[in-house]
Amino acid sequence: MGAPMTHDPHLTPDRRRFLERLAGLVAAAEVGLRSTDGLRAWSGPAAGDARGQSPAPLPFTPAGTFNGVQMGPHTMLDEGIEHTLDLLADNAGTNAVLPYSHAYNNGLIKSLRSRADHGVPLTDNRGRRLPLVWVRTHPELYRDTSLRHQVVDSSFEHHDRDLFAEIIAPARSRGMKVYARILESSAMRNVVENFDRVVTRDVDDQPTTVACWNHPEYIAFWAATMEDVFRHYDLDGIQWGAERMGPLMNVISPWNNNPPTCFCEHCRARGKAAGVDSERARQGYRELHTYVQGQMAGAPRPADGMFVGFLRLLIRYPEILGWEYQYRLSREAICDAMYRRVKAVKPDADVGWHIDHQPSSWDLVYRAEMSYEEMAPHADFVKIIAYHNALAPRLRDWYLPRFQKSILGEVSLQDSLNLYYDLFGYDRTTEPSLEELGNRGMSPTYVFDETRHAVASANGKLKVYTGIGFDVPGAPPDDPATIEEATVKAFEAGAHGIVASREYEEMKVEHLRAVGRAFRRVQATAPSARP
Ligand SMILES: [Zn+2]
Repeated sequence: MGAPMTHDPHLTPDRRRFLERLAGLVAAAEVGLRSTDGLRAWSGPAAGDARGQSPAPLPFTPAGTFNGVQMGPHTMLDEGIEHTLDLLADNAGTNAVLPYSHAYNNGLIKSLRSRADHGVPLTDNRGRRLPLVWVRTHPELYRDTSLRHQVVDSSFEHHDRDLFAEIIAPARSRGMKVYARILESSAMRNVVENFDRVVTRDVDDQPTTVACWNHPEYIAFWAATMEDVFRHYDLDGIQWGAERMGPLMNVISPWNNNPPTCFCEHCRARGKAAGVDSERARQGYRELHTYVQGQMAGAPRPADGMFVGFLRLLIRYPEILGWEYQYRLSREAICDAMYRRVKAVKPDADVGWHIDHQPSSWDLVYRAEMSYEEMAPHADFVKIIAYHNALAPRLRDWYLPRFQKSILGEVSLQDSLNLYYDLFGYDRTTEPSLEELGNRGMSPTYVFDETRHAVASANGKLKVYTGIGFDVPGAPPDDPATIEEATVKAFEAGAHGIVASREYEEMKVEHLRAVGRAFRRVQATAPSARP
């Protein structure tokens, strides 16, 4: 971001002239930052992108050159480590790989239909017994928790392989960094010993299947995992994520009908310390849940309206908001515990958090709770999902109908969509209309807008890696030119890097090439290669 540094004494005269020429273009681009037309003049597919030709440089200085890709670890072993790394380097210019070390979201098996041809025979993965844990576990490090990772015995495929040990040398020889990627989820209950000890308790004190951020054993489990992974593998970084929302969004934009959480002893103690009355919060959430569930089931609309009914409960029970904020702080606290444990072992490791699509792009509660800058004491980066194509059907199927049924009954879906675009800073004249949401994805301008928001929210205190999504099942068809433009837009908006998403095994080679074309332009422009 910002003007190129033309006064750097270390620049060669050629480099200085080049940057000075760019400075004029940057100034022009910054004047017309919101003008899509102004940017389109240079943001199309690069003219000189064939091999052997110099890629067209970009009229801005990238903040970084991280170019990662997410993948299922079994895919790399199935396709061959060398084959996979070569395919990624040759086509996408990848300089960092992020396989799962712990795939506790239980989403490793992608359907045969959604997987891409990478030049090796595709096997049908249904029925394969694949581990969720892809690193060796050292139980002696887990002394502060009774939870135990999945035990990967000889009944699992690839059980005799040690991916994160095997991959380091071939990755480094290609100039690639290696990050572990982790997702937690309620699927852990099936494989993690003693998981039921750490689950949340709902308003009726019933145990759930989701772990509580405030449970000391859950915090200790993940902190120990960080120490374990970084003590035993020579990793460059880690990306950890949990695709779940706070209690308020779980009620007003629900994925299920479950009562709100968490009111366990640890959460009540945190509330007490923060001056939030847990019984008032409990009663508020109980009434809010009853209200929203009733509206969604077709109960008569209140005389004052559906949204006013929601607001009335917030006014009578401000503890609803206080409890939600404590939820978020406890989520950040477990991240802080992990961050500190990694840094104690490897201070220069790049540690960051996966911000999935709802918090990155349609969860106003998450956005309101804190800026990315406020996460910087325990984050080197955030990887924000900005899947342009997939967002459109997600808005159509998830965001719009849920809010209309829960709290925005008076607002038409088209008005709700416009309100959404305006509140999130997306350009309603560029992005799909209600009718178009099913057929057309969001534009690369969304990738620019959301990345620019994230960079501004981070305020220079942490890095932003933008998740560029393509070949995501359920999204409108992808095309290489749009993927290339989306990748360029992320860097133009100030991203320090991108992460090709969501899974390598789904990515068509022509789409990886589009990332590569964009990335070569970034590299041609970057003052130095510094992934
Ligand atoms: Zn709790």
